[in-house]
Amino acid sequence: MKDTVNMFRLINKKIVGNYHNSVLSMRQMLNISGIKLNSASRINKYVTQVGSLSITNAVLQNGLKVSFEAQKKLFHVTASRQALPPLFIIILRPLSKIAAILFGRTFRKWWRALPPDKKQDLILRLKRNKMVLLASGILASTGVVWYYSSHLEEDPITGRKKFIAFSNEYILQLAKVELTMQSELHKDHFLPITHPAYKRVAKVANQLLKSNMEIPELQQRNWVVTVVDEPSVNNAFVLPTGHIFIFTGILNVCTNDDQLCVILAHEISHVLLSHMDEQISSLHLVDLLILIPLAFIWAVLPDAGALMAQGLSEYFTKVLFHLPFSRALEAEADQVGLQLTAKACYDVREASAFWAKMSVLDKECEWLSTHPSNETRQLVLDSLMPSAIRLRDDCKCPQLPLVDPRMLTAVKQKKAVI
Ligand SMILES: [Zn+2]
Repeated sequence: MKDTVNMFRLINKKIVGNYHNSVLSMRQMLNISGIKLNSASRINKYVTQVGSLSITNAVLQNGLKVSFEAQKKLFHVTASRQALPPLFIIILRPLSKIAAILFGRTFRKWWRALPPDKKQDLILRLKRNKMVLLASGILASTGVVWYYSSHLEEDPITGRKKFIAFSNEYILQLAKVELTMQSELHKDHFLPITHPAYKRVAKVANQLLKSNMEIPELQQRNWVVTVVDEPSVNNAFVLPTGHIFIFTGILNVCTNDDQLCVILAHEISHVLLSHMDEQISSLHLVDLLILIPLAFIWAVLPDAGALMAQGLSEYFTKVLFHLPFSRALEAEADQVGLQLTAKACYDVREASAFWAKMSVLDKECEWLSTHPSNETRQLVLDSLMPSAIRLRDDCKCPQLPLVDPRMLTAVKQKKAVI
């Protein structure tokens, strides 16, 4: 799925490595996360006790119109004081880049205009103070390392250490801005709750949320479902506020509710795992670190060369850092989403069947994408399937259908190749 947070995609090789080396079994993962297995009675208990679920139900009962009104009420469509910090930081990013370019360019022009004797004098002074310069560099690098390590947090679900530089409130403010934008953009295509497609999504989302209510990050949010009638859009996303958006395009691709659950669980996992927080934090850190080389490029190269070097460095940063990091987060959301699906008693095998189907429908180049290729997703999910099925059994779910949907998809894939 192309999430709205794609603009914040980043790479973190360490995380990529960790992910591929640590495909935890469902039980291991659940032990880490403190998630306890649901029994039928437990589910009933949480249905009546958890406030956020009842709010979800209220939204579903009161209609999408009410839901949208509630969104406006909650998130102040008009500018408020709280909206200032995110906007300030959003503006600060391009401004700091422009400042670095101007600084480098001005330095180059100043240096060129400097008489040769003054240049010599300056170089000599720098050589004399090289130890001071070296110490300053080491101090600055230590500061960056300290800043990074002091903002590492352990994820309660995966146990993975991640860099989070912004408060939850700040991320929620950003999400509210995004929510307002998305609501304005799609409001004419919202489906009413009486629509069969809406009922379908609401039913699956409710079962998914109820079955996983023991996860604190899930309890903390008021989940709201919005179905957007845009058949050409194969997309779904969930905002950190708990607002689930799903487009009829992707709904039509989900041939059954099991596949729909897989999609919803994947998107909800992004929120539970605070992926948006992590991506924005890493993005700002990379932006900060890039300022010095950027100023250097503009200080030593002429305008045309500097522009080309800047473009190249941005491209390589994207391909070598941002995209792999984004793919690692997608893989993590697939992994945790599979567990949520298992606990909701849907057919987990449909996860792999879905991506096998997508690999026939949509071919893409993985290394240039924010997402793993459909084939990679299918293979990774297949490797996680035995533990997902065990988890599902532990939750006392009804037996899986005898016919494995992956076999049916394999036959279709074969036909497509032939
Ligand atoms: Zn995703």
